[in-house]
Amino acid sequence: MKEQRNGLLLVVSGPSGVGKGTLVKALMDRNSRIKMSVSATTRAPRPGEIDGVHYFFKTEEEFKAMVDRGEFLEYIHVFGSKYYGTPRSFVEQQLADGFDVFLEIDVQGAMKVKQAFPDAVLIFITAPSMSEIKSRLIGRGTETMEQVEKRFATAFEEIKMIPEYDYVVVNDVVDKAVHHLEAIMEAERCRTVRSAYLTEAIEEIGR
Ligand code: ADP
Ligand code: 5GP
Repeated sequence: MKEQRNGLLLVVSGPSGVGKGTLVKALMDRNSRIKMSVSATTRAPRPGEIDGVHYFFKTEEEFKAMVDRGEFLEYIHVFGSKYYGTPRSFVEQQLADGFDVFLEIDVQGAMKVKQAFPDAVLIFITAPSMSEIKSRLIGRGTETMEQVEKRFATAFEEIKMIPEYDYVVVNDVVDKAVHHLEAIMEAERCRTVRSAYLTEAIEEIGR
């Protein structure tokens, strides 16, 4: 029996510095059927970040033109001045081709995706403690102390949104957290709502 299903749309959110990027990269290293959506942003690239790989880096004018053309699945305006958005066409194409697609986006964006795609799987990533989140953020060394404080303050708002998510994963040890993510994906693939083709095929055999 041939499996005919679209890929899973998975949304990963959690406080900045909790390890979302680390976990999704580890998952992709282990599974070639997983794709990561590359967002567009107006924030400046961090050292080592490549345009088109980590983000599509845009000016505010370019970003707003994309909004006007309806090219985003969702977008937000955060941290006072920066825009972030998920380009629509890549996600829709990959899902149709059967790839599982991860969006690493903030809680507001996640809620918009859930409305537009009720089948999306929302996963909140957290760390064993708030102090651990702060030390990871500082340890990454990519933000000024002022930016760290701003992101850390946002973290308290973000964790209030956990009940809106389908799953929560504590990123204590990376390997363990990756295993949890794989288990979630396995279970989601087995959900009855995603298996209509199976019922149809079984009914077909019975005729
Ligand atoms: P996010 O994408 O959520 O902002 P990152 O993946 O960039 O976070 O991780 C932030 C920092 O924490 C990085 O320096 C990363 O190496 C580190 N990190 C990620 N997961 C763990 C973990 N389980 N234990 C310790 N450090 C971690
Ligand atoms: P960073 O600047 O650390 O790369 O990302 C800051 C925040 O923006 C993170 O919470 C990240 O998940 C979120 N983010 C990145 N891309 C998008 C996007 O396309 N849409 C939304 N809604 N949030 C995004």
